[in-house]
Amino acid sequence: NLTAEMARKWLILFNKKIQEKQDYLSNLDTPIGDGDHGHNMARGMTAVVAALNDNQTLQEVFKATAMALVSKVGGASGPLYGTAFMEMAKTAATSDQLSDLLSAGLAGIIKRGGAQVGDKTMVDVWTPIVTEIQKGSLTKIEIEEFVMATADLLAKKGRASYVGERSIGQIDPGCQSSGFLFESLLEVIE
Ligand code: ADP
Ligand code: MG
Ligand code: MG
Repeated sequence: NLTAEMARKWLILFNKKIQEKQDYLSNLDTPIGDGDHGHNMARGMTAVVAALNDNQTLQEVFKATAMALVSKVGGASGPLYGTAFMEMAKTAATSDQLSDLLSAGLAGIIKRGGAQVGDKTMVDVWTPIVTEIQKGSLTKIEIEEFVMATADLLAKKGRASYVGERSIGQIDPGCQSSGFLFESLLEVIE
């Protein structure tokens, strides 16, 4: 189960990775998008960390995160990550189990963005991660494998779908930032 304190630690670690890797994330977005994913996420996560405080419940941590991401990220990833955290906030009212929280987050991303597994979007990392979390067997190596595997896919949703076949061979930037999100989580729950 996830406490409010663990969730705060998770988001602070995620922010640190995003700030460190923002150029890398934007570089992934350059050949198949508009080159802004790292900078979008860095702006959003700065706002998230500023919105956190020690008095928040788990639900309040997720809600503050969602609102900061939606208002500050810009681009497709803002509403998608924002919806994921808003759905996690709703679920936190009745469960503090990671598998419940993350599957609600994934369902929110799918509902909002309409992508399916294989479309080369965040869904391609979130889906296998949720399965591994349910089994209680998520590892850092698996996270890296799920992220790398997105390189083989042809993009069918989002900006990367505009470049067609040229999206093949490139890691999806939103999958890479999601990989950092789950690596941060692993550091908190291990
Ligand atoms: P934009 O494409 O508007 O510039 P970003 O560069 O911040 O936004 O985010 C791009 C990422 O958003 C993609 O790499 C992909 O993972 C994710 N994404 C785009 N469209 C969708 C969608 N419909 N469903 C899920 N994820 C998506
Ligand atoms: Mg972009
Ligand atoms: Mg953009």
